Amino acid sequence: MACAYVGRFAPSPTGPLHAGSLVAALASWLDARAHGGRWLVRIEDVDQPRCVPGADRLILRQLADCGLLPDAQPLWQSTRSALYQAALDDLASAGRAYPCGCSRKDIEQALAARGRPRERHGELVYPGTCRTGLHGREPRAWRFRVEPGVVRWTDRRLGAQQQDVEAEVGDFVLRRADGLWAYQLAVVVDDAQQGITQVVRGEDLADNTARQIHLQQALRLPTPGYLHTPLVLGSDGEKLSKQNGAQPLDTSEPLAALNQAAAVLGLAAHGGSVAEALAAWQRQWRDSYNPAGD
Ligand code: GLU
Repeated sequence: MACAYVGRFAPSPTGPLHAGSLVAALASWLDARAHGGRWLVRIEDVDQPRCVPGADRLILRQLADCGLLPDAQPLWQSTRSALYQAALDDLASAGRAYPCGCSRKDIEQALAARGRPRERHGELVYPGTCRTGLHGREPRAWRFRVEPGVVRWTDRRLGAQQQDVEAEVGDFVLRRADGLWAYQLAVVVDDAQQGITQVVRGEDLADNTARQIHLQQALRLPTPGYLHTPLVLGSDGEKLSKQNGAQPLDTSEPLAALNQAAAVLGLAAHGGSVAEALAAWQRQWRDSYNPAGD
């Protein structure tokens, strides 16, 4: 059994947990327990304008109601700016990060002129305009200089994955024009700093993995294993979210909430107590997801 396993659940406190987020929480907890490892909770509150006051405490209480207790004090990303700044400074001094003066309109115009792919999941593919300097404009954001090449990685559920980040995403943002830290940088710095060995999270985040691997390599940080869990879909067939009717998770009946999440993960429904159900799912998890390397 790999004792060095450290896993995490990293919710953004933009509202309470809903049925979809409990799936990722339960899966990451089960994977850590099935490996005899530690399980941490990180509150990803870097995007302050999207955070809802009190949602962090509510999420922690919902997790506790479901018997999902972290093995250390949770960590709040909003307290960790100095670490993100140090990583950005490192990248900048190695020539891997640069200031960018482009507005959205500038990027659209540059893309139109070059006839390059314009968008991926609603985000513009950055054409690299400021790689060669600011062209007299004020710096707005900081971007990561992506090296050419295809990133390949294996997801424990989705199998072999690959992405050409330079072509499909372009140089992505590390620090936003509004001064806030970008998710990609914060998550990579924190996963490494917390010693995370396995990232278990929702499948909607799988597309970020190649960008995160690029950053890990540039910062000389280890790459954890990855497992992306099935999504719960809303009434419109999209990932369940507040916008398409996700209700806050009712944890006054924790076993009912957990059984729903377990079903999404292909685990059998369980009666009895929360503790008994969690123990049974740990056994089933070991068989179905075969903890890596054990
Ligand atoms: N904070 C992200 C979210 O709630 C999850 C980040 C991650 O697990 O890497 O969508």
